[in-house]
Amino acid sequence: MSGTVVTVADGVHAYVQAPGGWCVNNAGIVVGEDAVLVVDTAATEKRALALRDAVDALAPGPRRIVVSTHHHGDHTFGNHVFAGPHTDLVSHEGGPAELLRRGTALQSLWPDVDWGNTPTVLPTSTVGDGATLDLGGITAHLVHPGIAHTGDDLVVWLPEQRVLYAGDLVFSGAAPFVLMGSLTGSLEALARLRALRPRVVVGGHGPVGGPELLDSVEEYLRWVSGLAERGLADGLSPLETARRADEGAFAALLDRERLVGNLHRAFQEAVGGVHGAHIPSTPAMREMVAFNGGRPLKCLA
Ligand SMILES: [Zn+2]
Repeated sequence: MSGTVVTVADGVHAYVQAPGGWCVNNAGIVVGEDAVLVVDTAATEKRALALRDAVDALAPGPRRIVVSTHHHGDHTFGNHVFAGPHTDLVSHEGGPAELLRRGTALQSLWPDVDWGNTPTVLPTSTVGDGATLDLGGITAHLVHPGIAHTGDDLVVWLPEQRVLYAGDLVFSGAAPFVLMGSLTGSLEALARLRALRPRVVVGGHGPVGGPELLDSVEEYLRWVSGLAERGLADGLSPLETARRADEGAFAALLDRERLVGNLHRAFQEAVGGVHGAHIPSTPAMREMVAFNGGRPLKCLA
């Protein structure tokens, strides 16, 4: 139930929850002299409490800043476990509306999961294009990379340590997911992240890696983009396109059914749709189940 702390620089840690598929996300713990930064929480109350124990063990001091890389419940349902007078909860300025709009709807997809108590907690402050945090001896930049995985993405960049917490712009060993964001926006964001020249990349899910994780996501998204062009030219739907696709090595990715959702976004953008325009997620999720041979999506929380 608990994650593994992976130390990537002095005072800089990833909190990795294996294997990293649906609902099982990574977090970050950055221990400064004046404050500890926690990047994302977890999907269930129990998992969030285990993360809080890990934070307490590394940084018993009171001042905490919890940054949400985006509003999705696997990254935010546990925020209330950290809320309190000494904690700043920070999101992108688009986050609060999404938290209120979506609430705990995600949980209805997996009613058998023990979610625990997960009240929606709103951020105490928000950032627009970016902000800089001085944690005491460690500087952290919060950067909004544009509409990518969602419209309210934030990544956390530690320039001295060259460590990047990329949130769900990076899935490591699992299929990327841009249904609720933008495929072309994600490609632009990846170029921006690559230009930072990170040494360590902590994705939102899956094992910690280096800049090659950015390359893997880009390769996948370019493949999806090509599939969409051909699918549109052949008059196919996203689901039909996914079914006819030669997945090659991508077939081994966790949660490969996301291909259908990604194709919905790719089709929408290929015909000139606005980046990030709402695509109803329930029908797309249903098609992902169909693509999976009718097997429900696997949430390991
Ligand atoms: Zn997400």
